[in-house]
Amino acid sequence: MRQVSIGLPMATEPGILRVVDVQSLAEQWRDDLRFLVLAPNAATYEQVEQWRARGLRNIAPVTADGLEEGDVVDCNPDRARAIVLFRESDAHHSLFLTNRCNSYCLMCSQPPTRHDDGWLVEHAIEIVRHARVAPAVIGISGGEPLLASEGLQRVFATIRKCWPDTVIEILTNGRLLHQARVRQALFSELPTNVRWLVPLYGHADFLHDFVVQSPGAFDETLEGLLTLQSLQQPIQLRIVLIEPVLDILDELCRFIGQNLPFVECVALMACEPTGFALANRDLCELDLLDAAPMLDRASRILERYQVRHVFMNAPLCALPPRLWGRATRSISDWKNTYADECARCSVKDRCCGLFSWHERNWKPTKLKPIEETAV
Ligand code: SF4
Repeated sequence: MRQVSIGLPMATEPGILRVVDVQSLAEQWRDDLRFLVLAPNAATYEQVEQWRARGLRNIAPVTADGLEEGDVVDCNPDRARAIVLFRESDAHHSLFLTNRCNSYCLMCSQPPTRHDDGWLVEHAIEIVRHARVAPAVIGISGGEPLLASEGLQRVFATIRKCWPDTVIEILTNGRLLHQARVRQALFSELPTNVRWLVPLYGHADFLHDFVVQSPGAFDETLEGLLTLQSLQQPIQLRIVLIEPVLDILDELCRFIGQNLPFVECVALMACEPTGFALANRDLCELDLLDAAPMLDRASRILERYQVRHVFMNAPLCALPPRLWGRATRSISDWKNTYADECARCSVKDRCCGLFSWHERNWKPTKLKPIEETAV
């Protein structure tokens, strides 16, 4: 998440606000929203302060480098900081619903906590209400978002109202769908425009349960997948490429082709080098280029079963050229970067690049800029 240093009146209440240029304030103003008005000079700052003193309490002037009109920010006046939670120009948008989780994955990029963070649901709703334009796709992630199932239903309802055409992609381990209470909260009104992104790390319980460090998870996830299928909900299965998964990748792909042919897509994802992946580096770090024959084989198995599949977080120089057409630019804008070598690469504009913490941690492979003649 991007943090920006800001200057604004101390009396400003913390919370969610939309950033607006002073010229477009009148057009965008609504009394149920809050606005940070960009003040590029002292005169504008003074003017906005005066409007505020006269009763427009839902506006505040702000001085900041690094904010853009349309940003939705979480503003902390005490610390003179704002966190950009939604930026119109980003390719990827997401809402973070909870940091709690019922799994404990070996490679979790966002290690779970136990404290009550129910306020994140209200935050998510406020972000949606404050955004000026509807994104084509919004991701909902955690933790495990289904732990906040009643709140999640309210987030769905807000998105439906404010952004009726937006596709919601919810990243969930699916385990809680076996609970009637959760199914009732989520499906009393069947969500439309929702795609379910569900991780699967093995074709047998002991394999999947080891990766997610939770006994019983495999059975619950399969039950969740079957529930989603019975409700005709679109599903993307997610497979993170770490050593224990790579060891059984052929069998897992065959299992999917034979038993879960209803999934819309399978995403094979390089591991994000952060969080628990660092603590379990011996199991999580691998060179994607070394794994290329296994990835190619997995792709051929899925092709045989006519299961659509994509590669995520995988730079093109780490994949056999045959698989380039399946590679997606999947890394969220705020954590995406390219290495110096990439400047000389002819496919940079098609490549997902790297996670910005790769320098501190590890690269997915030794980068090898692609020459124009090789494309
Ligand atoms: S050199 Fe950089 S831009 Fe080129 S394929 Fe590799 S990671 Fe992508």
